[in-house]
Amino acid sequence: MKRLKTAIDAVVEEIAKTDARGTPSQAVPALAGADTGQFGIAVHTCEGETVSGAAADTPFTIQSISKVFSLTLALEAHGDDVWTRVGREPSGDPFNSIVDLERHEGIPRNPFINAGALVVIDMLLGKNAGKASHDSVRAFLEARIGADAIGIDDDVANEEQSSGFVNRALANLAKSFDNLDNEVETVMKAYVEQCALTLSCEGLARAGAYLMSDRADQHSDSVAEARRARRINALMLTCGQYDGSGEFAYRVGLPAKSGVGGGILAIVPNEAAIAVWSPGLDDNGNSLLGTRALELLAEKMDWSVFGSI
Ligand code: GLU
Repeated sequence: MKRLKTAIDAVVEEIAKTDARGTPSQAVPALAGADTGQFGIAVHTCEGETVSGAAADTPFTIQSISKVFSLTLALEAHGDDVWTRVGREPSGDPFNSIVDLERHEGIPRNPFINAGALVVIDMLLGKNAGKASHDSVRAFLEARIGADAIGIDDDVANEEQSSGFVNRALANLAKSFDNLDNEVETVMKAYVEQCALTLSCEGLARAGAYLMSDRADQHSDSVAEARRARRINALMLTCGQYDGSGEFAYRVGLPAKSGVGGGILAIVPNEAAIAVWSPGLDDNGNSLLGTRALELLAEKMDWSVFGSI
């Protein structure tokens, strides 16, 4: 644990000296003015401890990181049937791209682009709710880390609800191809709500701990859950950073999912769940300092799914 704390402190120090900080998401006015000097990091280990640095207890909207949790619920409820309605390939297009959806006749390329997330959420609503352990991402998170660790940013939710023209277009296009059962507005409401949930790095690292698939973890004690986690990690590695996923795998070497709020959840299988946050984004919509911090930490801890050095 001491080695981890030393590594985190060194990362915090290096990040503080970094000049390039990226640009906050301009798509959501409530995020657009965020201070790009903010940075937080937390690591939840397989021993059940959380080690953190900098602004690890500052809440931020989890945005697309929520897509990992809704996918988990959909896989619980529907198993492999999920893959009849959404693909498992990187899109190579921006997170809200619409062209791919038309090209693939309403089947989104993967569950982590917006189109894919909307279809996944549709699978959790109404008569499709099935056997998911919880009826919303919020309930799923509350069961893992407690209601007090979770909030919602109403400004972000209201803005995304009133200005989500592209997301509505994606949902409508999926519906026109018969790949959305519920009403577009019902799906939009659930989507916007899960994107606007707020967690701190400490909360996010704990919430993502089930993806370590460590059998000793109290939430991952079944083989089915461990197998599911492994598959979700595969998708995070290949599709978790939109069209920056290849570069991210090259630099960091860990499965991860980013959100335009500046958060990233990364998984070191059987070892740790890492959450980083800094609101400045790179050109692909991934946190610039967050990615750099993960790269530094993975190097210092010799963490990579591609083997140790
Ligand atoms: N709420 C955002 C959107 O729908 C999520 C995108 C993201 O975090 O990448 O545009």
